[in-house]
Amino acid sequence: MDDKAKLPVTIAISGAAGQISYSLLFRLIAGDLLGPHQPIVLRLLEVPQAIGQLEGVAMELEDFASPILVGLSCHSDPLEAFKAVDLAFLVGARPRGPGMERGDLLEVNAEIFAEQGRALNAVAKRSVKVLVVGNPVNTNTLIAIRNAPDLDASQFSGMTRLDHNRAVSLLARASQRPCTSVEGVIIWGNHSTSQYPDVHHATINGRPALECVGKDFEASFIETVRRRGAEVIRVRGKSSAASGAHAALCQMRDWLRGTPKGSWTSMAVVSDGSYGITQGLVFSFPVETHDGHWRIVEGLALDAASAALIKASESELLQERDLVRHLIDLP
Ligand code: NDP
Repeated sequence: MDDKAKLPVTIAISGAAGQISYSLLFRLIAGDLLGPHQPIVLRLLEVPQAIGQLEGVAMELEDFASPILVGLSCHSDPLEAFKAVDLAFLVGARPRGPGMERGDLLEVNAEIFAEQGRALNAVAKRSVKVLVVGNPVNTNTLIAIRNAPDLDASQFSGMTRLDHNRAVSLLARASQRPCTSVEGVIIWGNHSTSQYPDVHHATINGRPALECVGKDFEASFIETVRRRGAEVIRVRGKSSAASGAHAALCQMRDWLRGTPKGSWTSMAVVSDGSYGITQGLVFSFPVETHDGHWRIVEGLALDAASAALIKASESELLQERDLVRHLIDLP
């Protein structure tokens, strides 16, 4: 097909004036998600108080003179922003404010993601794919799913790809091999310090990773991946942004184009009961993707220690779910 005849893909981004979006948006108009010949329309969503700043970002996007950006608009109403969108990146979330408890943070974000779920349900394309980035990401994804009953739960995923990429890079550095030689890493559970970065199925150049880096490496590997976000804040003085945006692109690109045969990635998706995880919970699993669909990789052996770590993360997610029960219409 002639490239010029391609229909544009419409992409919504919430929290579009924030740090992650500031990297993500410019990667999108450079063709880093859909290629240099696919026209795109961007719909940018922000809270009313950030619209002024968002208009500045929109000016910079225009000034790129990107050959693929064929439409751009700023919105504070999700019903406008999500109209007929093909893809949505839900990046915006309220950070923890002074004196806010974990429950308050969950509640305030739950309301944002309930509203956005309802809006997607009402106006997005029926084939929309929604990637949730804003924290607490697993529970925000669950809330969006429950508020979009006309869309399939499989059209939503939460981002654990940054944790996955961190784990890959850590193994590559520890073994002095390139990142491309690392396969089979898994992030299980919640995108929080209860996540379980699992090295047991990982390989480096086809060899079991633990043989390459030594068994003693595992404990520090788990803690380093779990605490990497906090460590970036400590060292950089700000939270990770470019690596988060890159991970969002990686996750959406794999979802759309598929993971290479025989390999998998990590995504927070709705549980079908696999590995004994409560059905309906949004949990990070190893997933294969093909033709725009994801599938949980089944049948991986788990030792007792791994199973316990996975259960601990599930418990945390069940607690989070209980705190927002009123917004997800549970029996
Ligand atoms: P960032 O762009 O840095 O981060 C956005 C969200 O991504 C945060 O919830 C952040 O969580 C999360 N995140 C960061 N790293 C990761 C990761 N590794 N995996 C998963 N999630 C991650 O935040 P800013 O404060 O710069 O920008 C947020 C913007 O969102 C603001 O402009 C605000 O106005 C907007 N907003 C928009 C809303 C809307 O469109 N309706 C609603 C609420 C806010 P964490 O804070 O834990 O790092």
